[in-house]
Amino acid sequence: MNKTTTYDVIIIGAGAAGLSAGLVLSRARADVLIVDSGQPRNAPATQMHGFLSRDGVDPAGFLRTARHETEGYGGEFLAASVASVDTHAGSFRVTLVDATTVRARAILVATGLVDQLPLIPGLRDRWGSLVHHCPYCHGYEVRGLRISVIGGPAREMSIKQAGLLRRYSDAVTFITNGIDLGPSELSRLEAFDIHVVTANASHLVGASATLTGVALGSGDVVPTDAVFIAPPQRPQDELLRGLGCETDAGTGLVRTDPFGATNVPGVWAAGNVVTPSAQIITAAGAGSAAAISINGWLLNNDLDAATAARQ
Ligand SMILES: Cc1cc2nc3c(=O)[nH]c(=O)nc-3n(C[C@H](O)[C@H](O)[C@H](O)COP(=O)(O)OP(=O)(O)OC[C@H]3O[C@@H](n4cnc5c(N)ncnc54)[C@H](O)[C@@H]3O)c2cc1C
Repeated sequence: MNKTTTYDVIIIGAGAAGLSAGLVLSRARADVLIVDSGQPRNAPATQMHGFLSRDGVDPAGFLRTARHETEGYGGEFLAASVASVDTHAGSFRVTLVDATTVRARAILVATGLVDQLPLIPGLRDRWGSLVHHCPYCHGYEVRGLRISVIGGPAREMSIKQAGLLRRYSDAVTFITNGIDLGPSELSRLEAFDIHVVTANASHLVGASATLTGVALGSGDVVPTDAVFIAPPQRPQDELLRGLGCETDAGTGLVRTDPFGATNVPGVWAAGNVVTPSAQIITAAGAGSAAAISINGWLLNNDLDAATAARQ
């Protein structure tokens, strides 16, 4: 990192969204710095699925490859956490947690989200290996096994998960865990041969790195090989909010146009930070679209400046 340079773009976050943008922008010969705190959302998983031509690869290896590709075109990386971004003297000033500052003409925030796991003992240790949230990512891998869906605050998603998982297993149990099912919801689940258990989940059972069941408050255990839950998700959008980016009144998410531009000129966002449902491939696509939009904006500014200089 060159602290005296004003980069064309600083990308905050080097997951699929940020790295995809970094590749497109560095190939477009923009001066790019990517700052990343090293905690991609799917880090606990040993495989990633559903990304054509990369199905089943190691998520960390995927990011490493993408990073090398970007570095090959001159993109710079910095392992650090960004504390704030503000506008200062006509550019964006990015302040790291150690108070170092670095400047850019445009900013792309690709900081992802945090899955807020419920405090059920044994759940966090198995997150990404035996406890999952996304049937599209890991449903196929648990086909034929005994699956328990543990309900939670994301009520609609929890009920939907149970239905989706029946494609993969004849032994799906829905543990309500606080969800009060209406009669029609209950009959729809039962009609689909989903075993509904009205109880709270107490803890997961099994020696470390294994799973044999979900213990209920009553002490009973639901024999289980894999758990699915739908935890609430918290977009890491503090930097965008700090810059004054508008949010959607309904979803509470920071609003962007289809190419990731926020209402604040020079500020873009991509990936899970603004689209919590984005898979790796869609986060990467959003990063690419944002990169092209940013590059067009930089070009317009350069043309304006060149024209003004001639007059
Ligand atoms: C366990 C698990 C398994 C998954 N498996 C799959 C799968 O198989 N297939 C699939 O398509 N999807 C999967 N997903 C979803 C996938 O993780 C997301 O789609 C993807 O990570 C979104 O990419 P992103 O770039 O938006 O965010 P992330 O990948 O989360 O990257 C955000 C980056 O920003 C950094 N960051 C955050 N704040 C700051 C800051 N202030 N300063 C600097 N850096 C910062 C973080 O450290 C992180 O590296 C899985 C999710 C989970 C939880």
